[in-house]
Amino acid sequence: MTANWQRRWHPLLDQWVVIAANSAQRPWSGVVTSTDTATRPQHDPACYLCPGVTRASGHINPDYDGVFAIDNDFPALATHAPEPAPTEDLLCKTAAASGQCRVLCWSPRHDLTLADISAAQMCRVAELWQTEVATIELNPQVKQVLIFENKGVETGASNLHPHGQIYALPFVSDNAQRMRGAQANYAKTNHGDDLLNRLINHPAHKDTLLVDQSEHCSVIVPFAARFSYETWVVPHRPVSSITELTPAELHDLALTYQRNAQRYDALFQRPAPNITLFHNAPCDDHTDNKHWHFHIAMQPPLRDQTKLKYLAGAEAGMNNIVNPLQPEQAARQLRDSLS
Ligand SMILES: [Zn+2]
Repeated sequence: MTANWQRRWHPLLDQWVVIAANSAQRPWSGVVTSTDTATRPQHDPACYLCPGVTRASGHINPDYDGVFAIDNDFPALATHAPEPAPTEDLLCKTAAASGQCRVLCWSPRHDLTLADISAAQMCRVAELWQTEVATIELNPQVKQVLIFENKGVETGASNLHPHGQIYALPFVSDNAQRMRGAQANYAKTNHGDDLLNRLINHPAHKDTLLVDQSEHCSVIVPFAARFSYETWVVPHRPVSSITELTPAELHDLALTYQRNAQRYDALFQRPAPNITLFHNAPCDDHTDNKHWHFHIAMQPPLRDQTKLKYLAGAEAGMNNIVNPLQPEQAARQLRDSLS
């Protein structure tokens, strides 16, 4: 199969993706990323997430063992953001940037990543994902809880200590609105069918796009992947939030996710940069939330081992993405990376 000059419909985001595998053959004289794998210290006294360190806020981190969660000292959203003066003028419309930003440390070890920690520690991390979301969703002002990880300097991460973040949003993000609408529309027009389970089990590309499968979840490269090595970790039971997974399902998800992170490291031959997003349903009581299928999306910013993928020019203007790698090839490379 060739995917050159092929548009693929992204059913979850309701938009076209251009697959242009031929563009990967272009001569390259642009920026290449470092594949340097210099070791980091187990503890860095200059790192504000390491145990025992005094942060900019003046707080001293406990000598934690396992996982550690704190409010971000430099949050993008504030719990007590000032409410602007009301106005009817749409051209001057504002609202308080209220919400909460949390930082979640995966390990006290400065030099590890989620791919490196023990299976037991990986399960503790997953339990933290679940308890944090459950706690934050209790706040009626929160409309969406987004967990994410920016891993590696290529993603813009400001600190290499293994950690993720949570944004508790006072509104439903653009992507979440698209995904909610698409899943609800699919269910309503297909006898209640679940869009993501249909994607995982689609007979036309089930075998070519499947990367891994465990008892409770599957890992796929999406048919209309927007990023060259994008994968989704999808629980088989269509829960709308990570908080609904049973302990057995959660631990299975955690270890499958970790294996996927190890797969990227093996493919790129270093702790691979990645942007990871946990797509929980919004928590704003919209009736369409019940059609949402929770999943984890991993979006490496690389188009191969050394070249970064930039969203410039046409993509910045279109908000539609050109993927320079055929998704079936990416799935094959990822499958083979751990074998
Ligand atoms: Zn650290």
